[in-house]
Amino acid sequence: MEAHINSILKLQQTFFNEGNTRNISKRKTVLKDLKKEIENREQDIAKAIYNDFKKPEFEVLLTETKIVLSDLKDAIRNIHKWTKPKRVTPSLLNFPSAAKIIKEPYGRVLIMSPWNYPFQLALSPLIGAVAAGNTVVLKPSELTPNTSKIISEIILKVFPKEYVTVVEGDKIIAQTLLEEKWDYIFFTGSPHVGKIVYQSAAKYLTPVTLELGGKNPCIVDEKINIKLSAKRIVWGKFINGGQTCIAPDYILVDSKIKTQLIEALKQEIINAYTKNPEESKDYVHIVNENHTNRLKNLLSGQEILFGGVSYGKNSLAPTLVNEPSLESPLMQEEIFGPILPIISYKNEEEIKSVITKYEKPLSLYVFSKRSAFAQKIINEFSFGGGAINDTVVHFVNKKLPFGGVGNSGLGAYHGKLTFNTFSHSKPIVNRGTWLDIPLRYAPYAKKTKWAGMLERFM
Ligand code: NAD
Repeated sequence: MEAHINSILKLQQTFFNEGNTRNISKRKTVLKDLKKEIENREQDIAKAIYNDFKKPEFEVLLTETKIVLSDLKDAIRNIHKWTKPKRVTPSLLNFPSAAKIIKEPYGRVLIMSPWNYPFQLALSPLIGAVAAGNTVVLKPSELTPNTSKIISEIILKVFPKEYVTVVEGDKIIAQTLLEEKWDYIFFTGSPHVGKIVYQSAAKYLTPVTLELGGKNPCIVDEKINIKLSAKRIVWGKFINGGQTCIAPDYILVDSKIKTQLIEALKQEIINAYTKNPEESKDYVHIVNENHTNRLKNLLSGQEILFGGVSYGKNSLAPTLVNEPSLESPLMQEEIFGPILPIISYKNEEEIKSVITKYEKPLSLYVFSKRSAFAQKIINEFSFGGGAINDTVVHFVNKKLPFGGVGNSGLGAYHGKLTFNTFSHSKPIVNRGTWLDIPLRYAPYAKKTKWAGMLERFM
Protein backbone atom coordinates (compact mmCIF):
# COMPACT_ATOMS: atom_id res chain seq x y z
CA MET A 1 0.00 0.00 0.00
CA GLU A 2 2.82 2.38 0.88
CA ALA A 3 4.29 1.96 -2.60
CA HIS A 4 0.87 2.58 -4.17
CA ILE A 5 0.39 5.77 -2.13
CA ASN A 6 3.90 6.91 -3.01
CA SER A 7 3.30 6.44 -6.70
CA ILE A 8 0.00 8.37 -6.56
CA LEU A 9 1.71 11.20 -4.72
CA LYS A 10 4.48 11.39 -7.31
CA LEU A 11 1.93 11.45 -10.12
CA GLN A 12 -0.05 14.18 -8.35
CA GLN A 13 3.09 16.23 -7.75
CA THR A 14 3.99 16.09 -11.46
CA PHE A 15 0.41 16.84 -12.48
CA PHE A 16 0.36 19.87 -10.18
CA ASN A 17 3.84 21.10 -11.09
CA GLU A 18 3.01 20.93 -14.79
CA GLY A 19 0.25 23.45 -14.11
CA ASN A 20 -2.63 21.10 -14.99
CA THR A 21 -4.85 22.46 -12.22
CA ARG A 22 -4.18 26.16 -12.92
CA ASN A 23 -6.67 26.84 -15.70
CA ILE A 24 -9.87 28.17 -14.12
CA SER A 25 -12.14 27.19 -17.02
CA LYS A 26 -10.83 23.62 -16.81
CA ARG A 27 -11.53 23.55 -13.07
CA LYS A 28 -15.05 24.72 -13.81
CA THR A 29 -15.51 22.01 -16.45
CA VAL A 30 -14.39 19.24 -14.12
CA LEU A 31 -16.72 20.52 -11.37
CA LYS A 32 -19.57 20.46 -13.89
CA ASP A 33 -18.64 16.86 -14.80
CA LEU A 34 -18.68 15.95 -11.12
CA LYS A 35 -22.11 17.54 -10.70
CA LYS A 36 -23.49 15.63 -13.67
CA GLU A 37 -22.10 12.34 -12.39
CA ILE A 38 -23.57 12.87 -8.91
CA GLU A 39 -26.94 13.79 -10.42
CA ASN A 40 -26.84 10.64 -12.54
CA ARG A 41 -26.04 8.49 -9.53
CA GLU A 42 -28.23 10.15 -6.90
CA GLN A 43 -30.38 7.05 -6.49
CA ASP A 44 -27.31 4.77 -6.17
CA ILE A 45 -25.84 7.09 -3.55
CA ALA A 46 -29.07 6.97 -1.56
CA LYS A 47 -29.06 3.16 -1.77
CA ALA A 48 -25.42 2.95 -0.66
CA ILE A 49 -26.02 5.15 2.38
CA TYR A 50 -29.18 3.19 3.21
CA ASN A 51 -27.20 -0.05 3.04
CA ASP A 52 -24.58 1.41 5.36
CA PHE A 53 -26.90 2.51 8.15
CA LYS A 54 -30.52 2.58 6.97
CA LYS A 55 -30.66 6.30 6.34
CA PRO A 56 -33.98 7.17 4.69
CA GLU A 57 -33.94 8.70 1.22
CA PHE A 58 -35.30 12.06 2.40
CA GLU A 59 -32.50 12.45 4.96
CA VAL A 60 -29.97 11.55 2.26
CA LEU A 61 -31.36 14.29 0.03
CA LEU A 62 -31.58 16.81 2.86
CA THR A 63 -28.22 16.19 4.49
CA GLU A 64 -26.01 14.63 1.83
CA THR A 65 -26.61 14.88 -1.92
CA LYS A 66 -28.49 18.18 -2.13
CA ILE A 67 -25.88 19.90 0.04
CA VAL A 68 -23.09 18.61 -2.20
CA LEU A 69 -24.96 19.59 -5.39
CA SER A 70 -25.63 23.03 -3.98
CA ASP A 71 -21.92 23.40 -3.10
CA LEU A 72 -21.05 22.41 -6.66
CA LYS A 73 -23.51 24.92 -8.09
CA ASP A 74 -22.06 27.64 -5.87
CA ALA A 75 -18.46 26.83 -6.85
CA ILE A 76 -19.29 26.58 -10.57
CA ARG A 77 -21.14 29.90 -10.50
CA ASN A 78 -18.49 31.78 -8.53
CA ILE A 79 -15.15 30.21 -9.41
CA HIS A 80 -14.06 33.05 -11.73
CA LYS A 81 -14.97 35.63 -9.09
CA TRP A 82 -13.26 33.72 -6.26
CA THR A 83 -10.03 33.15 -8.17
CA LYS A 84 -9.68 36.70 -9.48
CA PRO A 85 -6.77 38.56 -7.85
CA LYS A 86 -8.20 41.11 -5.42
CA ARG A 87 -6.83 44.66 -5.66
CA VAL A 88 -6.40 46.43 -2.31
CA THR A 89 -5.56 50.03 -1.48
CA PRO A 90 -1.78 50.44 -1.59
CA SER A 91 0.10 51.77 1.43
CA LEU A 92 1.25 55.37 1.02
CA LEU A 93 4.62 54.31 2.41
CA ASN A 94 5.07 52.24 -0.75
CA PHE A 95 4.15 55.10 -3.06
CA PRO A 96 4.06 54.65 -5.99
CA SER A 97 2.65 51.10 -6.01
CA ALA A 98 -0.31 48.78 -6.61
CA ALA A 99 -1.23 45.95 -4.23
CA LYS A 100 -3.20 42.76 -4.71
CA ILE A 101 -3.96 39.36 -3.16
CA ILE A 102 -3.58 36.30 -5.35
CA LYS A 103 -5.36 33.06 -4.44
CA GLU A 104 -2.86 30.27 -4.95
CA PRO A 105 -3.53 26.54 -4.61
CA TYR A 106 -1.54 24.82 -1.86
CA GLY A 107 -0.70 21.77 -3.99
CA ARG A 108 -1.41 18.23 -2.83
CA VAL A 109 -4.28 18.02 -0.36
CA LEU A 110 -5.27 15.11 1.89
CA ILE A 111 -8.94 14.97 2.94
CA MET A 112 -9.96 12.47 5.63
CA SER A 113 -13.66 12.08 6.36
CA PRO A 114 -15.89 10.38 8.96
CA TRP A 115 -18.78 7.94 8.55
CA ASN A 116 -21.75 9.89 9.92
CA TYR A 117 -22.49 12.03 6.84
CA PRO A 118 -20.29 9.86 4.65
CA PHE A 119 -21.03 11.47 1.29
CA GLN A 120 -21.36 15.13 2.20
CA LEU A 121 -18.38 15.37 4.55
CA ALA A 122 -16.12 13.79 1.94
CA LEU A 123 -17.37 15.68 -1.12
CA SER A 124 -17.99 19.20 0.21
CA PRO A 125 -14.35 19.85 1.16
CA LEU A 126 -13.22 18.11 -2.04
CA ILE A 127 -15.22 20.59 -4.15
CA GLY A 128 -13.46 23.53 -2.47
CA ALA A 129 -10.05 21.88 -2.84
CA VAL A 130 -10.56 21.30 -6.58
CA ALA A 131 -12.08 24.76 -7.13
CA ALA A 132 -8.96 26.22 -5.52
CA GLY A 133 -6.70 24.29 -7.93
CA ASN A 134 -5.29 21.51 -5.75
CA THR A 135 -4.87 17.80 -6.36
CA VAL A 136 -6.62 15.61 -3.79
CA VAL A 137 -6.29 12.27 -2.08
CA LEU A 138 -9.55 11.48 -0.29
CA LYS A 139 -9.69 8.88 2.50
CA PRO A 140 -13.35 8.19 3.35
CA SER A 141 -14.41 6.23 6.42
CA GLU A 142 -14.08 2.46 6.50
CA LEU A 143 -17.27 2.22 8.62
CA THR A 144 -19.53 3.10 5.67
CA PRO A 145 -18.02 0.89 2.93
CA ASN A 146 -20.93 1.10 0.47
CA THR A 147 -20.74 4.89 0.41
CA SER A 148 -16.94 4.85 0.17
CA LYS A 149 -17.21 2.51 -2.82
CA ILE A 150 -19.62 4.73 -4.71
CA ILE A 151 -17.55 7.83 -3.94
CA SER A 152 -14.57 5.98 -5.35
CA GLU A 153 -16.49 5.07 -8.53
CA ILE A 154 -17.71 8.64 -9.06
CA ILE A 155 -14.26 10.14 -8.58
CA LEU A 156 -12.68 7.57 -10.89
CA LYS A 157 -15.20 8.42 -13.60
CA VAL A 158 -14.62 12.19 -13.36
CA PHE A 159 -10.94 12.66 -12.49
CA PRO A 160 -7.69 11.08 -13.62
CA LYS A 161 -5.98 9.57 -10.58
CA GLU A 162 -3.13 12.08 -10.79
CA TYR A 163 -5.77 14.77 -10.13
CA VAL A 164 -8.07 13.22 -7.52
CA THR A 165 -7.80 9.73 -6.02
CA VAL A 166 -9.84 7.94 -3.39
CA VAL A 167 -7.86 5.68 -1.07
CA GLU A 168 -10.21 3.39 0.84
CA GLY A 169 -9.12 1.75 4.07
CA ASP A 170 -8.95 1.75 7.83
CA LYS A 171 -6.83 3.63 10.33
CA ILE A 172 -3.66 1.82 9.26
CA ILE A 173 -4.11 3.22 5.76
CA ALA A 174 -4.93 6.61 7.28
CA GLN A 175 -1.70 6.52 9.27
CA THR A 176 0.29 5.55 6.17
CA LEU A 177 -1.21 8.55 4.38
CA LEU A 178 -0.42 10.81 7.33
CA GLU A 179 3.25 9.88 7.19
CA GLU A 180 3.52 11.53 3.78
CA LYS A 181 4.25 15.19 3.15
CA TRP A 182 1.10 17.09 2.18
CA ASP A 183 0.57 20.74 1.34
CA TYR A 184 -2.75 20.82 3.24
CA ILE A 185 -4.68 18.35 5.40
CA PHE A 186 -8.43 18.68 5.93
CA PHE A 187 -9.68 16.30 8.62
CA THR A 188 -13.21 15.71 9.88
CA GLY A 189 -13.59 13.31 12.81
CA SER A 190 -13.06 12.91 16.52
CA PRO A 191 -10.86 15.17 18.67
CA HIS A 192 -8.81 12.05 19.57
CA VAL A 193 -7.85 11.35 15.94
CA GLY A 194 -7.65 15.10 15.26
CA LYS A 195 -4.69 15.23 17.64
CA ILE A 196 -2.97 12.38 15.75
CA VAL A 197 -3.52 14.27 12.48
CA TYR A 198 -2.19 17.51 13.97
CA GLN A 199 0.94 15.79 15.24
CA SER A 200 1.62 14.21 11.84
CA ALA A 201 1.07 17.55 10.11
CA ALA A 202 3.50 19.25 12.50
CA LYS A 203 6.36 17.13 11.16
CA TYR A 204 6.26 19.09 7.87
CA LEU A 205 4.52 22.22 9.21
CA THR A 206 1.57 21.31 7.00
CA PRO A 207 -1.44 23.62 7.45
CA VAL A 208 -4.59 21.86 8.64
CA THR A 209 -8.29 22.24 9.14
CA LEU A 210 -9.62 20.06 11.94
CA GLU A 211 -13.40 19.67 12.04
CA LEU A 212 -13.99 17.84 15.32
CA GLY A 213 -16.73 17.29 17.89
CA GLY A 214 -17.65 17.79 21.53
CA LYS A 215 -20.45 17.82 24.09
CA ASN A 216 -22.98 20.33 22.78
CA PRO A 217 -25.26 21.89 25.40
CA CYS A 218 -28.86 22.79 24.67
CA ILE A 219 -30.12 25.30 27.24
CA VAL A 220 -33.87 25.57 27.70
CA ASP A 221 -35.16 28.62 29.55
CA GLU A 222 -38.52 28.66 31.39
CA LYS A 223 -39.89 31.17 28.87
CA ILE A 224 -40.32 29.17 25.69
CA ASN A 225 -42.88 27.82 23.29
CA ILE A 226 -42.63 24.29 24.69
CA LYS A 227 -44.17 22.35 21.82
CA LEU A 228 -42.15 24.06 19.10
CA SER A 229 -38.93 23.91 21.12
CA ALA A 230 -39.40 20.19 21.80
CA LYS A 231 -40.08 19.56 18.09
CA ARG A 232 -36.90 21.38 17.05
CA ILE A 233 -34.78 19.68 19.71
CA VAL A 234 -36.08 16.22 18.78
CA TRP A 235 -35.41 16.87 15.10
CA GLY A 236 -31.81 18.06 15.67
CA LYS A 237 -31.04 15.34 18.19
CA PHE A 238 -32.49 12.28 16.47
CA ILE A 239 -31.91 13.04 12.79
CA ASN A 240 -29.29 10.59 11.52
CA GLY A 241 -29.94 8.48 14.64
CA GLY A 242 -28.30 11.13 16.83
CA GLN A 243 -25.01 10.59 14.98
CA THR A 244 -24.44 14.25 14.17
CA CYS A 245 -21.45 16.28 15.34
CA ILE A 246 -23.65 19.34 16.00
CA ALA A 247 -26.58 17.48 17.58
CA PRO A 248 -27.49 18.65 21.09
CA ASP A 249 -25.53 16.32 23.37
CA TYR A 250 -27.47 17.14 26.55
CA ILE A 251 -30.26 19.44 27.71
CA LEU A 252 -29.96 21.94 30.54
CA VAL A 253 -33.51 22.91 31.42
CA ASP A 254 -34.93 25.37 33.93
CA SER A 255 -36.28 23.14 36.72
CA LYS A 256 -39.63 25.03 36.61
CA ILE A 257 -40.53 23.56 33.20
CA LYS A 258 -38.60 20.29 33.25
CA THR A 259 -41.65 18.02 33.57
CA GLN A 260 -43.52 19.79 30.78
CA LEU A 261 -40.48 19.69 28.51
CA ILE A 262 -40.00 15.95 29.06
CA GLU A 263 -43.65 15.27 28.17
CA ALA A 264 -43.35 17.43 25.04
CA LEU A 265 -40.12 15.68 24.00
CA LYS A 266 -41.74 12.26 24.39
CA GLN A 267 -44.70 13.37 22.28
CA GLU A 268 -42.47 14.77 19.54
CA ILE A 269 -40.43 11.56 19.43
CA ILE A 270 -43.65 9.60 18.96
CA ASN A 271 -44.88 12.08 16.33
CA ALA A 272 -41.66 11.66 14.35
CA TYR A 273 -40.87 7.97 14.77
CA THR A 274 -44.13 6.42 16.14
CA LYS A 275 -44.36 4.38 19.34
CA ASN A 276 -42.29 1.66 17.63
CA PRO A 277 -39.24 3.37 16.14
CA GLU A 278 -37.90 -0.04 15.08
CA GLU A 279 -40.71 -0.10 12.52
CA SER A 280 -40.27 3.50 11.42
CA LYS A 281 -38.68 3.88 7.99
CA ASP A 282 -37.52 7.33 9.05
CA TYR A 283 -35.35 6.29 11.97
CA VAL A 284 -31.66 5.82 11.16
CA HIS A 285 -29.73 2.87 12.57
CA ILE A 286 -26.51 2.94 14.54
CA VAL A 287 -23.57 2.52 12.21
CA ASN A 288 -22.32 -0.79 13.66
CA GLU A 289 -22.43 -3.19 16.57
CA ASN A 290 -19.44 -1.63 18.35
CA HIS A 291 -21.12 1.76 18.46
CA THR A 292 -24.44 0.20 19.53
CA ASN A 293 -22.69 -1.56 22.41
CA ARG A 294 -20.82 1.62 23.31
CA LEU A 295 -24.16 3.48 23.53
CA LYS A 296 -25.86 0.71 25.52
CA ASN A 297 -22.97 0.78 27.97
CA LEU A 298 -23.42 4.52 28.41
CA LEU A 299 -26.95 3.80 29.65
CA SER A 300 -25.81 1.45 32.36
CA GLY A 301 -26.90 2.71 35.79
CA GLN A 302 -28.88 5.64 34.31
CA GLU A 303 -32.52 6.51 34.99
CA ILE A 304 -34.24 6.09 31.63
CA LEU A 305 -37.31 8.29 31.13
CA PHE A 306 -38.16 7.10 27.65
CA GLY A 307 -36.80 4.62 25.06
CA GLY A 308 -33.65 2.81 26.08
CA VAL A 309 -34.63 -0.27 24.06
CA SER A 310 -32.42 -1.91 21.51
CA TYR A 311 -34.19 -4.01 18.87
CA GLY A 312 -31.31 -5.65 17.17
CA LYS A 313 -27.61 -5.44 16.83
CA ASN A 314 -27.52 -1.97 15.25
CA SER A 315 -30.35 -0.05 16.82
CA LEU A 316 -31.29 1.94 19.86
CA ALA A 317 -34.60 3.76 20.36
CA PRO A 318 -34.65 7.54 20.93
CA THR A 319 -33.81 7.69 24.63
CA LEU A 320 -34.26 10.31 27.34
CA VAL A 321 -32.17 10.05 30.52
CA ASN A 322 -32.96 11.81 33.79
CA GLU A 323 -30.30 13.78 35.67
CA PRO A 324 -27.18 11.71 34.94
CA SER A 325 -24.19 12.30 37.19
CA LEU A 326 -21.68 14.55 35.46
CA GLU A 327 -19.05 12.02 36.48
CA SER A 328 -20.81 9.12 34.69
CA PRO A 329 -19.42 7.88 31.32
CA LEU A 330 -22.57 9.27 29.64
CA MET A 331 -21.51 12.77 30.65
CA GLN A 332 -17.79 12.24 30.19
CA GLU A 333 -17.70 11.59 26.44
CA GLU A 334 -19.44 12.87 23.30
CA ILE A 335 -22.58 10.70 23.07
CA PHE A 336 -22.91 10.62 19.27
CA GLY A 337 -26.09 8.56 19.30
CA PRO A 338 -29.82 8.78 20.14
CA ILE A 339 -29.47 9.37 23.89
CA LEU A 340 -30.51 12.73 25.33
CA PRO A 341 -29.63 13.43 28.99
CA ILE A 342 -31.82 15.99 30.71
CA ILE A 343 -30.29 18.02 33.52
CA SER A 344 -32.20 20.73 35.38
CA TYR A 345 -30.83 24.01 36.67
CA LYS A 346 -32.13 26.51 39.19
CA ASN A 347 -30.02 29.53 38.28
CA GLU A 348 -27.50 30.78 35.74
CA GLU A 349 -24.57 29.81 37.99
CA GLU A 350 -25.62 26.18 37.64
CA ILE A 351 -25.70 26.46 33.84
CA LYS A 352 -22.19 27.85 33.96
CA SER A 353 -20.85 25.20 36.29
CA VAL A 354 -22.02 22.41 33.92
CA ILE A 355 -20.90 23.95 30.62
CA THR A 356 -17.48 24.97 31.87
CA LYS A 357 -16.82 21.43 33.09
CA TYR A 358 -16.26 20.45 29.47
CA GLU A 359 -14.00 21.47 26.62
CA LYS A 360 -15.32 24.14 24.23
CA PRO A 361 -18.13 22.42 22.29
CA LEU A 362 -18.71 22.43 18.52
CA SER A 363 -22.16 23.94 18.99
CA LEU A 364 -24.49 25.39 21.61
CA TYR A 365 -28.23 26.00 21.48
CA VAL A 366 -30.42 28.16 23.65
CA PHE A 367 -34.21 28.20 23.66
CA SER A 368 -35.78 31.29 25.16
CA LYS A 369 -38.31 34.01 24.45
CA ARG A 370 -36.15 36.37 26.49
CA SER A 371 -33.65 37.70 24.00
CA ALA A 372 -31.44 39.22 26.74
CA PHE A 373 -31.09 35.77 28.36
CA ALA A 374 -30.32 34.09 25.03
CA GLN A 375 -27.74 36.74 24.10
CA LYS A 376 -26.08 36.46 27.51
CA ILE A 377 -25.64 32.70 27.05
CA ILE A 378 -24.33 33.15 23.49
CA ASN A 379 -21.80 35.75 24.64
CA GLU A 380 -20.75 34.03 27.85
CA PHE A 381 -19.49 30.73 26.43
CA SER A 382 -17.00 29.87 23.73
CA PHE A 383 -18.22 27.30 21.17
CA GLY A 384 -17.96 26.64 17.41
CA GLY A 385 -21.38 27.94 16.35
CA GLY A 386 -25.01 27.62 17.26
CA ALA A 387 -28.58 28.83 17.20
CA ILE A 388 -31.22 30.54 19.28
CA ASN A 389 -34.58 28.72 19.36
CA ASP A 390 -33.45 25.95 17.01
CA THR A 391 -30.80 23.27 16.62
CA VAL A 392 -28.33 22.37 13.83
CA VAL A 393 -29.64 24.97 11.34
CA HIS A 394 -26.56 27.20 11.35
CA PHE A 395 -24.94 24.45 9.28
CA VAL A 396 -26.97 25.15 6.15
CA ASN A 397 -26.17 28.81 5.60
CA LYS A 398 -23.18 28.98 3.25
CA LYS A 399 -22.44 32.52 4.40
CA LEU A 400 -21.71 31.31 7.94
CA PRO A 401 -18.30 29.81 8.74
CA PHE A 402 -18.64 26.25 10.02
CA GLY A 403 -16.03 24.95 12.43
CA GLY A 404 -15.08 24.39 16.03
CA VAL A 405 -12.91 26.18 18.55
CA GLY A 406 -10.36 24.72 20.95
CA ASN A 407 -10.98 21.01 21.38
CA SER A 408 -13.86 21.03 18.85
CA GLY A 409 -11.74 22.15 15.94
CA LEU A 410 -9.37 24.42 14.13
CA GLY A 411 -10.39 26.44 11.06
CA ALA A 412 -13.74 26.60 9.32
CA TYR A 413 -15.35 26.13 5.89
CA HIS A 414 -18.58 26.34 3.85
CA GLY A 415 -19.41 28.43 0.80
CA LYS A 416 -16.64 30.74 -0.35
CA LEU A 417 -14.72 29.98 2.83
CA THR A 418 -14.18 26.40 1.60
CA PHE A 419 -12.43 27.82 -1.46
CA ASN A 420 -10.40 30.18 0.75
CA THR A 421 -9.50 27.33 3.11
CA PHE A 422 -7.76 25.51 0.27
CA SER A 423 -6.05 28.64 -1.10
CA HIS A 424 -2.96 30.43 0.07
CA SER A 425 -3.55 34.20 0.01
CA LYS A 426 -0.43 35.60 -1.64
CA PRO A 427 0.05 39.37 -1.22
CA ILE A 428 1.94 41.17 -3.98
CA VAL A 429 3.12 44.78 -4.13
CA ASN A 430 4.04 46.12 -7.54
CA ARG A 431 6.33 49.15 -7.06
CA GLY A 432 6.59 51.97 -9.55
CA THR A 433 10.10 52.88 -10.61
CA TRP A 434 9.54 56.50 -11.64
CA LEU A 435 9.96 57.74 -8.03
CA ASP A 436 11.99 56.47 -5.07
CA ILE A 437 11.46 58.26 -1.74
CA PRO A 438 14.79 58.02 0.13
CA LEU A 439 13.42 58.09 3.71
CA ARG A 440 13.82 54.35 4.49
CA TYR A 441 17.43 54.01 3.36
CA ALA A 442 20.49 54.29 5.62
CA PRO A 443 22.21 56.46 6.68
CA TYR A 444 19.37 57.34 9.08
CA ALA A 445 20.93 60.48 10.58
CA LYS A 446 18.38 63.30 10.96
CA LYS A 447 15.53 61.00 9.81
CA THR A 448 14.14 60.18 13.27
CA LYS A 449 12.13 63.40 13.32
CA TRP A 450 10.09 61.98 10.38
CA ALA A 451 9.32 58.73 12.23
CA GLY A 452 6.13 60.17 13.75
CA MET A 453 4.71 60.54 10.24
CA LEU A 454 5.33 56.88 9.41
CA GLU A 455 2.39 55.73 11.51
CA ARG A 456 -0.02 57.85 9.48
CA PHE A 457 1.12 56.40 6.17
CA MET A 458 1.17 52.71 7.09
P1 NAD B 1 -12.85 9.17 13.64
O1 NAD B 1 -11.97 10.25 14.16
O2 NAD B 1 -12.83 7.87 14.32
O3 NAD B 1 -12.51 8.86 12.09
C1 NAD B 1 -12.38 9.87 11.12
C2 NAD B 1 -11.35 9.43 10.08
O4 NAD B 1 -10.11 9.18 10.71
C3 NAD B 1 -11.75 8.15 9.35
O5 NAD B 1 -11.42 8.31 7.97
C4 NAD B 1 -10.87 7.08 10.00
O6 NAD B 1 -10.49 6.05 9.11
C5 NAD B 1 -9.65 7.86 10.43
N1 NAD B 1 -9.02 7.32 11.64
C6 NAD B 1 -9.64 6.67 12.66
N2 NAD B 1 -8.73 6.35 13.63
C7 NAD B 1 -7.54 6.79 13.19
C8 NAD B 1 -6.22 6.75 13.72
N3 NAD B 1 -5.97 6.19 14.89
N4 NAD B 1 -5.22 7.32 13.00
C9 NAD B 1 -5.47 7.90 11.81
N5 NAD B 1 -6.69 7.95 11.25
C10 NAD B 1 -7.72 7.41 11.92
O7 NAD B 1 -14.32 9.79 13.59
P2 NAD B 1 -15.67 9.07 13.20
O8 NAD B 1 -16.01 8.05 14.23
O9 NAD B 1 -15.64 8.66 11.77
O10 NAD B 1 -16.69 10.31 13.33
C11 NAD B 1 -17.21 10.73 14.57
C12 NAD B 1 -16.49 11.94 15.12
O11 NAD B 1 -16.36 12.93 14.13
C13 NAD B 1 -17.27 12.61 16.25
O12 NAD B 1 -16.38 13.05 17.23
C14 NAD B 1 -17.94 13.79 15.55
O13 NAD B 1 -18.28 14.84 16.41
C15 NAD B 1 -16.89 14.18 14.57
N6 NAD B 1 -17.46 14.88 13.43
C16 NAD B 1 -17.19 16.20 13.27
C17 NAD B 1 -17.77 16.89 12.23
C18 NAD B 1 -17.51 18.34 12.01
O14 NAD B 1 -17.86 18.84 10.94
N7 NAD B 1 -16.92 19.05 12.95
C19 NAD B 1 -18.60 16.23 11.33
C20 NAD B 1 -18.84 14.87 11.53
C21 NAD B 1 -18.27 14.20 12.58
